[in-house]
Amino acid sequence: MANAFDSGPRGPYHARAMGNPLRDRRTPLELAASGQVIDFSNKIGDFEQLERIVEGDLEALDPDKLPSGWRDSEIRGQLSFGFADAQNGLPMVQGEVSGTIDAVCQRCLGPLKLPLSVELKLMFTDEASASAGDSDFEVWELEEETLRPLELVEEAIIMAMPLAAMHKDESCHGPDAEDSGAGEKVRPFAALKAQMDNEN
Ligand SMILES: [Zn+2]
Repeated sequence: MANAFDSGPRGPYHARAMGNPLRDRRTPLELAASGQVIDFSNKIGDFEQLERIVEGDLEALDPDKLPSGWRDSEIRGQLSFGFADAQNGLPMVQGEVSGTIDAVCQRCLGPLKLPLSVELKLMFTDEASASAGDSDFEVWELEEETLRPLELVEEAIIMAMPLAAMHKDESCHGPDAEDSGAGEKVRPFAALKAQMDNEN
C-alpha cells in the first residue's frame, strides 16, 4: 500500500508527525496508546541486517546464477499496536509478515526462492514484569526506551529463516564429488545469527 503521507509538500512543523511510522523511533507506550496500525510493503534492501545476511548467503552462488533484483524482493505485512492487559500497562503488537527471499540450497548449492510467513504476537516489557503478563505473548525486552517498528519486522523475518535452506523438489541434486568444500558450507544463517547476537 502506498504511503498517503508521501504525497504533497510537507510543512516544517508537520514533518516529524507525518513521517514513516515503520521507521520512526517511538516508545511502545506511544504506539499502543495511539492504536497504531502499520501496513507496509518494503524491499529486502530496506532492512540493513537482513540485506547483509541474504547477501552473505548468496555469495556462495556462481556469479551467473545470482538472482538479479534480490534486494527488490517484497516484504509486506501489518503491525497493530495495543495493550495486552485491561489496565493499559503492557504495550503489545500483533501482526504478520511475509515475503520471498532468495537463498542458496545447502544440498545442491543452487539458487532457491524461500517463501516466509511469520505471525507476531509480542509484549513489550522488562524482565521483572514479564511473568505477570499474558503467556500468549512472546516478550520483547527493550534495550532502549524507544524502538523502530521496522526492527520488529526485520527480526521476525531473520528468526523465521531456516538454518539450512534446501530445495523440496526432485530437481535438487547433491554437490558433485569434486566439490569437497561443500560439506563445510552448512548453516550459514545460524552462523550469521550468532554473529549478530554478539554484536547486539
Ligand atoms: Zn537444491
